[in-house]
Amino acid sequence: MTESEIPKEYNANEIEEKWMEKWDLSMYHFNWGEDTRPQYIIDTPPPYPTGNFHIGNALNWCYIDFVARYKRMRGYNVMFPEGWDCHGLPTEVKVEEIHRITKNQVPRAEFRRMCRELTEGNIDKMRKTMLRLGFYVDWSNEFVTMEPSYFVKTQKSFVRMYNDGHIYHEEHSVNWCPRCETAIAFAEVEYDAGQTKLNFVHFDKVDIATTRPELMAACVAVAVNPKDERYSRYIGQTITVPIFGQNVALIADEAVEPEFGTGAVMICTFGDKQDVRWWLKYGLPLVKAIDKQGKMAKTAGKYEGMSITECREAVISDLKTAGFLYNQTPLEQNVGLCWRCDTPIEILSEPQWFVKINPEGILKAADEINWYPEYMKVRLQNWTGTMEWDWCISRQRIFATPIPIWYCKQCGEVMISEESWLPIDPNEAATKKACICGSTEFEPETDVLDTWMDSSITALHVTGWESEHELRLPAQIRPQGHDIIRTWAFYTILRSLALEGKRPWDSIMVNGMVLGTDGHKMSKSLGNVISPEEVTSQYSADAFRQWGAVGGSTGSDVMFRWKDVVSASRFLQKMWSIYRFSMSHLKDFGPEGAEKFPQDSLFTIDRWLLSKLNRLVETATKEFDGYQFDSTFKAIRGFSWEVLADNYLELVKVRLYGDKPEGRKVAQYVLYRTMKTLSLLLAPFTPFFAEELYSRFSNESVHTQAWPTIDESLISEEAEAAGELIKDITSEVRRYKSDLGMALNAPLKKIEIYNADIDTGDIAGATNSEVELMKGAPSFEYVPVEVKPNMGLIGPKFRKEAGVIIKALKEEGPAVIESQAASGKITVTVNGRQIELEPETVEIRKEVISGGREVDVLEVSSAIVVIVR
Ligand SMILES: [Zn+2]
Ligand SMILES: [Zn+2]
Repeated sequence: MTESEIPKEYNANEIEEKWMEKWDLSMYHFNWGEDTRPQYIIDTPPPYPTGNFHIGNALNWCYIDFVARYKRMRGYNVMFPEGWDCHGLPTEVKVEEIHRITKNQVPRAEFRRMCRELTEGNIDKMRKTMLRLGFYVDWSNEFVTMEPSYFVKTQKSFVRMYNDGHIYHEEHSVNWCPRCETAIAFAEVEYDAGQTKLNFVHFDKVDIATTRPELMAACVAVAVNPKDERYSRYIGQTITVPIFGQNVALIADEAVEPEFGTGAVMICTFGDKQDVRWWLKYGLPLVKAIDKQGKMAKTAGKYEGMSITECREAVISDLKTAGFLYNQTPLEQNVGLCWRCDTPIEILSEPQWFVKINPEGILKAADEINWYPEYMKVRLQNWTGTMEWDWCISRQRIFATPIPIWYCKQCGEVMISEESWLPIDPNEAATKKACICGSTEFEPETDVLDTWMDSSITALHVTGWESEHELRLPAQIRPQGHDIIRTWAFYTILRSLALEGKRPWDSIMVNGMVLGTDGHKMSKSLGNVISPEEVTSQYSADAFRQWGAVGGSTGSDVMFRWKDVVSASRFLQKMWSIYRFSMSHLKDFGPEGAEKFPQDSLFTIDRWLLSKLNRLVETATKEFDGYQFDSTFKAIRGFSWEVLADNYLELVKVRLYGDKPEGRKVAQYVLYRTMKTLSLLLAPFTPFFAEELYSRFSNESVHTQAWPTIDESLISEEAEAAGELIKDITSEVRRYKSDLGMALNAPLKKIEIYNADIDTGDIAGATNSEVELMKGAPSFEYVPVEVKPNMGLIGPKFRKEAGVIIKALKEEGPAVIESQAASGKITVTVNGRQIELEPETVEIRKEVISGGREVDVLEVSSAIVVIVR
């Protein structure tokens, strides 16, 4: 063994920093040129570069890093790439804040430069946290979506999908966030229950009920249910909208609920999704009452320029004054909110870019993918089943991938970039050819792409799409949070099918959210945010990673608990002392010894340990293959602590310290093999700690070693049963000593074991006593030596007389009382009176005599252990 002083305490921070400096990160690189090992490509989620790699990211990366390290050890050519999903609104807002500007006050290019600069700094900060946590990604496959080298692919994918008819440009109703001033996709609308008022308004023929009176300017029809007899005579007639005065048709539609409100509803463009359905179905006119900033438009007449809320109040007040409003009732209603800023969304009709959705294809691909956990697939299926509108991919923002489109000023024709012109920003570069009408005057598209257009091609990107390498699609796994199944997972499947006709990955592993120590979602306002740095500075990265492993199972939300980190830290210390002890006995034992050691000289307890060790490898491998990190890690921890430390080491201590070379060598062999195997099993979970352990076994890194293989020949039920008996007998004898107040190493006269076929050397060592394995059955004689009255029974029944009864029982003596009890009744004379007692009111303590000696007898499963006192 490599000689080096092993300190008593494990100083995690010192050792983690040491390895951070020493490690050669190229050992984590994917080999593009190789096809001898199977590939294992991870479609890593590219985090948004906020500058803060938060605990939720960290949990997700724990899972990915465990898998990446495990698969490397299993012989896969692993790619654990790292991407950065840069574009989007939060960065724009931050830049506006930092520079105290709004995006329109500086030129587009300058604004983009500011966003890039902020993003670069943020990425640097997050990289540091990742390294500190032991997340060793493949930096040779890093991607940054704002870089031309990446967004050229986003643009290429757009051009291809446009040319293949998957993308179109059209005026269409879209979800609109008036605060962000951009269209958003349905997947980005969050619904929340809110309180509103239902307003009852007289129209000239019918009364209607509405929650959106400010949209009366955009009322294009009134609808009733065809079966509603109250209104049937008006169907087909026109009615007049109060205040605004437009005449609209009264139509009949099954979807109107007669029980709701008055049974008559306004159809406005657009109050909600149902309005859009009716508007399309009946070919109604379009009136835009709300503009892109969420202000009332010209069509709202005297209300023009008001905010939506101001207008609602003004219209209600005017309706009241004019006598049209006759009732208001409170109403619970689900309100659609922008997921970025929580502003209520509006539905506007605007020219936008859309991607066609093919639900059947997506559902089919979802079935080809393995979902971990399986039930997460339902979320995707449900979402896919509710899609009514195509995916709106254009955004009215700046910091995003430009849409490579120009419009001809002469004839309005769309000019799409050729692939060879990409990457390109149409706002900065002209087209390279003339329009079909001959004109060379173009207007660039100022809309940009939804950031999901960047991130939904990560699976394609990491598998080498449009690179100098051959395409290795599908990737093997997509790890991601359950909150972005309907966005990232959905869009990625869609794009992979549209562009390559294949599923993006073989498997998807879904992680939960991290909740604060109070069980609530972590948020600044609740003050329950914990940063990974806080944990590493107080404890260690390896402790944090153990929390990640055991905090919860894949898919479920995980609460952050300091006590998990504390016990993780304690496990490292415990493991360290096991290691330190083992190594102190391995100074004269090396790898040569481990290789050629004759297996038939193993003691039972050695075979027991090796059988358990191989079963541990079996379990860990099976659980790891199913991405069950909690059960994998718990199995390793349980083995180390209970099987190895609490039992095996105690049993072999005497052999290790002893002077019999053979017994010592065997124990050394087992320890060597076990500690080395444990270093390997721990490597994915606690990479720093495992490296430190392994460094005394080899000059190579533990992270370039193979995962331990299962040695079937060492798994033996017979050895396990026999070893279990040795372990149990030893611990029963120890308990016996401690019950008698004896020191654990105090020798007993002799221990005789009946009915067991085991070797007894380790029991003798661990109990410091002579042990003999006996044949046949022991013969015992039981001599009653003491009467123990049961006060719980005698006291309540005899009260004042209890004392004298007990005295009488004692005076009779154990032998007499025992024989009376055996006959079914005990009789004692008290104050001249005979009193009868049930046999259970006394207990008779007996001494056991065997072979003429006073002994104690312990029964340990089928064995009988006779201890000579
Ligand atoms: Zn918003
Ligand atoms: Zn033209």
